[in-house]
Amino acid sequence: MQDWYTDTRIFRPDITALVNADLQESVVKRMKLTFVGAAHEVTGSCHLLQAAGKNILVDCGMEQGIDLYENPGLPIAENEVDYVLLTHAHIDHSGMIPKLVKEGFKGEVVSTFATSDLCNIMLRDSAHIQEFEAEWRNRKGKRAGYPEYEPVYVMQDALDAIELFRPCGYGQRIQLCEGIEVRFTDVGHLLGSSSIEIWVTEGEEQRKIVFSGDVGNHNQPILREPSYTEEADYVVIESTYGNRLHSTEKIDYIGTFTQIVKETFDKGGNVVIPSFAVGRTQELLYFIREIKEQNLLPEYADFEVYLDSPLAIEATKVFTKNMKGCFDEAALKLVNSGINPLVFPGLKISTGSEDSKQINFIERPKVIISASGMCEAGRIRHHLKHNLWREECTILFVGYQAVGTLGRHILEGEKEVKLFGETIEVRARIESLKGISGHADLDGLLKWVEGFKKPLKRVFVVHGEDTVTEEFAQTVEEKFGYPAFAPFPSGEVDLIADEILSEGVRIPVKTKKPIQKKADAATERLLSAARWLMDVAARCEGMANKDKAKFEAQILNLADKWEIK
Ligand SMILES: [Zn+2]
Repeated sequence: MQDWYTDTRIFRPDITALVNADLQESVVKRMKLTFVGAAHEVTGSCHLLQAAGKNILVDCGMEQGIDLYENPGLPIAENEVDYVLLTHAHIDHSGMIPKLVKEGFKGEVVSTFATSDLCNIMLRDSAHIQEFEAEWRNRKGKRAGYPEYEPVYVMQDALDAIELFRPCGYGQRIQLCEGIEVRFTDVGHLLGSSSIEIWVTEGEEQRKIVFSGDVGNHNQPILREPSYTEEADYVVIESTYGNRLHSTEKIDYIGTFTQIVKETFDKGGNVVIPSFAVGRTQELLYFIREIKEQNLLPEYADFEVYLDSPLAIEATKVFTKNMKGCFDEAALKLVNSGINPLVFPGLKISTGSEDSKQINFIERPKVIISASGMCEAGRIRHHLKHNLWREECTILFVGYQAVGTLGRHILEGEKEVKLFGETIEVRARIESLKGISGHADLDGLLKWVEGFKKPLKRVFVVHGEDTVTEEFAQTVEEKFGYPAFAPFPSGEVDLIADEILSEGVRIPVKTKKPIQKKADAATERLLSAARWLMDVAARCEGMANKDKAKFEAQILNLADKWEIK
């Protein structure tokens, strides 16, 4: 076990000159923007700018969760893409870069230093997940006679993608190639996150396009407030919270956290925190350091915190490496006085699986931070197995738990869960401490638009749920008088003529039909039994809620037991 109260303050030079000698002789006259992904959707961000004879992607993200519209994909071949400009490292913005590389992309990925560092770990992690999923599907599928499932990409594709990154500092106007200049501005959403300004010159014509990226929320720990851009012809803006305001209720994060830890330690239990490896974990470390420094838990001043997630450990190192270039004033003040705001006495990290197992043999009450954040995979499941059944322990959720995940089941009061084939009773205290959202709300987004000092030609609204994009476009039109348009996938705009060439296509995603195979008699009987169960469940209306919950738990346990792993 490694004690991590070491001086890991590595500073990176803020700005690196970036000069591109890539000059093209014949510049084709066109300036077109095509909306490839995150059009009327929240994930899969990808926009194609064709200008000055170059094909530039802004983001190349993976679609996550349930999709509404089919994305017809890139209108050009992958090897025709010259650059990817990446707003930030979240997988729904960066996750398909390895796939682009697999299909022939050989250009450059330009991003901030911190985004490049985070992608170095997150794309490898994503490749690992793709490989793991393919292996799992194939193991299952082989028995059922299904054709081989090919992973979206493999580790080598991710490693090749990482080689193509060309990082730069915030605030530096860079010439990408003849006719195109870019600048990254901190937008306070994630370490390294940015909005991107692009200046395009084609002969006499000049246009400036600004992509908002994901706009950050106010008053987040560690990160700076979102910066504004003052000039643009066109703006492409996200709209995740385009019709909602965050709660104004002030959460005493440190006070509540301290109280929960104290009450748990008083009973002799552990506090187990399923956490997201990038962002939320570092926020937790930042708060715990403050609790320790202010001695808010004098009875347990030396308490230990175990960070048990390789990805979270790597991400914390990336945060530490980029402190000078990315941290907000309060965090920088600590850095400048020689303190690493993410490290404190008693912080232990476990990298190997042996270390991880050892944690369960340590009897002293402690805090364990582990991933995944929704308890679907990873080492957190081991910690849940060892702590869920102990009533003196607390499971503390610090992030959103999606429907259907183990985390959501526990949070909603499940009485027992299945882990590694064992039934574990839930007797621990279950708590939830919601962090500060990483996204600007409606007011934050409008404030970002208000930051432009000169009138905009047009605003394009992307990265929001179906109707939210339309609603937010309307709000922008009403409030600022700018024409605003929420494109569908494949929507196209001529940026010289300021003309919408196509609104895009609305092809609803087809629900995948099950593969029709002739079933044997035993399978038929099993399926008919399952349909009967479905019938019984459908007629549960008169049942008491308690019984419904019990019935649901029994079905889930049954499914878990028979699921082919
Ligand atoms: Zn994001």
